[in-house]
Amino acid sequence: MPAVARKQLPLRPAGPDTVAALLDWYDREHRDLPWRASPGKRANPYKVWLSEIMLQQTTVKAVIPYFLKFMIRWPTVKALAAADRDDVLAAWAGLGYYARARKLHECAQRVTTDYGGKFPRTEAELIKLPGIGPYTAAAIAAIAFNEPATPVDGNVERVTARLFAVRQPLPQSKSELKRLAATLTPAKRPGDFAQAMMDLGASICSVKSPSCLVCPLQPDCAAAAKGLEKVLPAKAPKPERPVRMGVAFLALREDGHLLLRRRPDTGLLGGMLEVPSTPWTDMMPSPKGVQRSAPVNGAWWEVPGLVVHTFTHFRLELMVYRAVVPVDTELMLWAAPERCRWVHRRELGQAALPSVMRKVVAHALKD
Ligand code: SF4
Repeated sequence: MPAVARKQLPLRPAGPDTVAALLDWYDREHRDLPWRASPGKRANPYKVWLSEIMLQQTTVKAVIPYFLKFMIRWPTVKALAAADRDDVLAAWAGLGYYARARKLHECAQRVTTDYGGKFPRTEAELIKLPGIGPYTAAAIAAIAFNEPATPVDGNVERVTARLFAVRQPLPQSKSELKRLAATLTPAKRPGDFAQAMMDLGASICSVKSPSCLVCPLQPDCAAAAKGLEKVLPAKAPKPERPVRMGVAFLALREDGHLLLRRRPDTGLLGGMLEVPSTPWTDMMPSPKGVQRSAPVNGAWWEVPGLVVHTFTHFRLELMVYRAVVPVDTELMLWAAPERCRWVHRRELGQAALPSVMRKVVAHALKD
């Protein structure tokens, strides 16, 4: 079959007409999300903030049940500020990136004490709050307060790179993409514009198969005109993810309690509970190192197989050892070691246990 020549599409530079076409499309096709107001209506800043923090590194689909759960339990920023931090961490468990949950709680307290429970309106003030970076500050300012700010997430980057046919790869092109997106941000409805770009990127202008023929931006899209829509945005190759290894120790008391340890407040999984383990390094500890690291004396045996979990910056491989320990032998010996406590199996669902540690528990208890 002879190759069909690609039809060159008419092109006008992206500008106010592009924005008008996008907003028309948004008025008709916007996603109904539980934190959103209808187009043109005022959004609730607490809902916008909560959803934006939850959506960092997580999908809309994964966030919705967590968002609804938080809104039922803590319907206002003041209610969240007054919550026990452990309850917030436990409610967050499964969403990942637990530093966000700690900062979320801190931020609720700052908004309550310093701003009387009302979020500040501008990017400059919002960015001073815990857990709010440049993207989130711009998103809250634009969406909740209609300030002329331009939040640029992965979807907005993709749409902008294609619209202007930016060939420089990500992440080097980030500042240029932000500058270009800002040139389009309208003085009226900047919040709807931001959300329209996000929705377009999440639906029509998808990563692998952009649907240019039904796209409201197609008359102005440089990538579509040049046949580059599937190759842009270009991405610099990612460095290989390093592997870290360790051994986790699941002590199971005869009365059904498991020994869990609280991680330090700062750093990875900060403040969350974990199954006690050796440090995570680039090699498995020696058998002697394993023996020395067990949190309590016991007949430890290795559970066959590995628990593998991928974090953003490394892949973790954990061997798991398990021991059953008595309840009543020498009470002091079995008292929980430092930062550890006994938690009953039936209470694990409410514990602030991150996904990787839930995998460890499931692996250790599988038979
Ligand atoms: Fe994306 Fe195609 Fe629309 Fe351009 S025309 S913004 S590449 S879907």
